[in-house]
Amino acid sequence: MTEELFREDATLLSCSATVLCSDDTGLVLDRSVFYPLGGGQAGDIGTLTAATGQVLQVTDTRKHPSLPGAILHLVAPGAERSAFAVGASVTARIDAARREAHKRFHTATHLLCALVPHPVDGCSITASYARLDFHMNEPLDKEALNAGIARLIAGAHPVGHRWISEAELDANPGLVRSMSVQPPRGLGRVRVLEIEGVDLQPCGGTHVANTREVGAVVVTKIEKKSAMTRRVVLGFAEPAAG
Ligand SMILES: [Zn+2]
Repeated sequence: MTEELFREDATLLSCSATVLCSDDTGLVLDRSVFYPLGGGQAGDIGTLTAATGQVLQVTDTRKHPSLPGAILHLVAPGAERSAFAVGASVTARIDAARREAHKRFHTATHLLCALVPHPVDGCSITASYARLDFHMNEPLDKEALNAGIARLIAGAHPVGHRWISEAELDANPGLVRSMSVQPPRGLGRVRVLEIEGVDLQPCGGTHVANTREVGAVVVTKIEKKSAMTRRVVLGFAEPAAG
């Protein structure tokens, strides 16, 4: 079981941790700032640094395929791992620019959800673009969407999450109705992401703290993927950093 520090604080870039297990594909830590691929959002990359100073590159992050609740930090095959045995203390550090891009694009996809009142049937969030597939057959207007996104960003709406119990959900049917996505059941509690006055939905991803931090994100393309699917692609309006 890995303590998921990124669920409470998406701004944390590093943490100390202990290696819990290690296999051919990667390492599991007792706590981590690395977000594992899920909910459409790509996994983090970064480094693990041992007490000896030895550095291991993390090439991607996944939910462990066979250990429930464990996060697998993927490493390159053949990497030198002598300082990363079970029980070793390490410093885990994510790639800050990639996390920042994920946070901005992920928050922007929530803004799109608020602007397009149709079910989402696909989502992909990377460091260079994001895309959302809406189940709908009406055309979408790129300029209108960009004006809407710009308005919500300029509105500087606070973004926050909270955990609610399934009992609390059941006792507040209005809350469920106001959500654009139905929460997963059977886990005891649900993490909900709220953009004040804009969007409320279950979400486990990483987001900025205020819509103004989304910055220069625009709709770059709208595609008709099928009779009932419209794909909206988001990109950065400014040149990529670095
Ligand atoms: Zn989200």
